[in-house]
Amino acid sequence: MSINNATSTRDGAGLRPLTGATATAPRAGTDADQPILTARGVTKRFPGVLALDNVQFDLRRGEVHALCGENGAGKSTLMKIISGLYRLDDGEVVYKGEPRHFHSIQDAQAAGITLIHQELNLVPHLTVAENIYLAREPKKGLFVDRRKMEADAQVYLDRLKVNIKASDLVLTLSVARQQMVEIAKALSLDAEILIMDEPTSSLTESEIDRLFEIIQELKADGVGIIYISHRLDELRRIVDRVTVMRDGRYVSTRDLADITVDDIVAAMVGRSLEDKFPERTSVPGDEEIMSVRGLTRHGVFDNVSFTLRKGEILGFAGLMGAGRTEVARAIFGADHRHGGSIALSGRDLSIASPIDAIEAGIAYLSEDRKLNGLAVGMSVKANITMANMAAVSNRMGLIDDRAEREAAEQYVRLLNVKTPSISQIARNLSGGNQQKVVIAKWLFRKSRVLFFDEPTRGIDVGAKFAIYQLLDELARDGIGVVLITSELPEILGMTDRVVVFHEGEVTGILETCRTNQEEIMQYASGVKRMPC
Ligand code: ADP
Ligand code: MG
Repeated sequence: MSINNATSTRDGAGLRPLTGATATAPRAGTDADQPILTARGVTKRFPGVLALDNVQFDLRRGEVHALCGENGAGKSTLMKIISGLYRLDDGEVVYKGEPRHFHSIQDAQAAGITLIHQELNLVPHLTVAENIYLAREPKKGLFVDRRKMEADAQVYLDRLKVNIKASDLVLTLSVARQQMVEIAKALSLDAEILIMDEPTSSLTESEIDRLFEIIQELKADGVGIIYISHRLDELRRIVDRVTVMRDGRYVSTRDLADITVDDIVAAMVGRSLEDKFPERTSVPGDEEIMSVRGLTRHGVFDNVSFTLRKGEILGFAGLMGAGRTEVARAIFGADHRHGGSIALSGRDLSIASPIDAIEAGIAYLSEDRKLNGLAVGMSVKANITMANMAAVSNRMGLIDDRAEREAAEQYVRLLNVKTPSISQIARNLSGGNQQKVVIAKWLFRKSRVLFFDEPTRGIDVGAKFAIYQLLDELARDGIGVVLITSELPEILGMTDRVVVFHEGEVTGILETCRTNQEEIMQYASGVKRMPC
């Protein structure tokens, strides 16, 4: 592999090619099975949470070792301990034969351990190159050598075959592209251990393919990779061994070749998951809650019409780019529409912005929880009440602290949000529980129609089940639910009716119990079309 034209800055070392056993400090013995890293008895407490309880884990050189477990199992915490971000309370981490306690991320990086965060950690107002070389910028005399920095950064970006310029500002990049920058940064650190915490959750198929190629290359170079992902189906392509954790405890470590995805899932949840979907307890009423007629946005979608009944779960099915998200965004007032009408309980609405939609009782929960509605740095309490401060303020407009607390407590209980308290910062919750906090916020706002855009993407099986139950409960309470999902089993398992989109048009509206995957696919691919 040729990456030697970019300078490694670790320990101030000069050129250091990745290839060859001499490239890295003594490669203990020749036994490939000898772990480069072993964690034993690792225990970590947070206020009110035992996040890790006597956990073990080991990693070999040139191995991809997957770490699986439901949200909250403790995967990220273990990785943060290994990479110097958190201190353990008990146990030890042995790296290259020696017990090590890294005191910071930089400390671990200098030793060869790099973590790519689940939460992206780039500085938006800096360039890609500045982010890659943050705090270790190449210098020319007293000054940062920008030219060299950008050229070096570009080498890593090019290696990922992403069309990103080192001089681009990070804030102009999509989430997926920022993810690729994080990966470029990790490459530039010449890690001996690379930890990827859910790297593919926002990548496209071709980006994932490229990432996997890179992983294979790194593996061939002897880099040990710890890989956390909820997409169990993709593990097959790169992973050697799998360790499963549950509720902060170690469950098992197996060679991937010896087990099936079902085995992994069973170990993760501690039971076998025959039924992926809860039984529906809600039945849609006859009352029409929302009616959309002839909705059009030139070049994006055309003449979209459908109705939503009270207590109904209506699916939006279609291939990527069919316009489902765009339709939802236009109804929510986030995007302009050129024509069409939206009525709620028979009353025509003039929605020009999300504020109008929210006022009317329509909420849209986007795929990206962080961009849409979750203030990760704020408390659970603040997140739940922020869209409806009026409800927790007195007549003077001052916030009534007790009312706010009570409201937050109530919704945390209602949605069974797993958090030590309502003062917990949202960032510290697992993905599924963050999702619930966003839902709580919109419920507290008394929304009558909720659009869920891929609500279960990137969350684990157990949390998915909880979200499905929640959708059912929302419908039972008379809310109109629109479920946008690319997973046909979700459409079939959860919805009452399904609106199928093809290239910006509605090609069919089907009763879920009278259709099947094949038929939905025929409408989604435009082969079949309902007479209008
Ligand atoms: P996973 O990555 O497997 O989803 P985490 O390691 O993020 O799980 O979380 C394990 C548990 O520790 C969860 O209950 C989570 O809420 C809690 N936790 C994680 N980080 C913090 C933190 N900084 N403060 C408090 N609790 C935390
Ligand atoms: Mg995690």
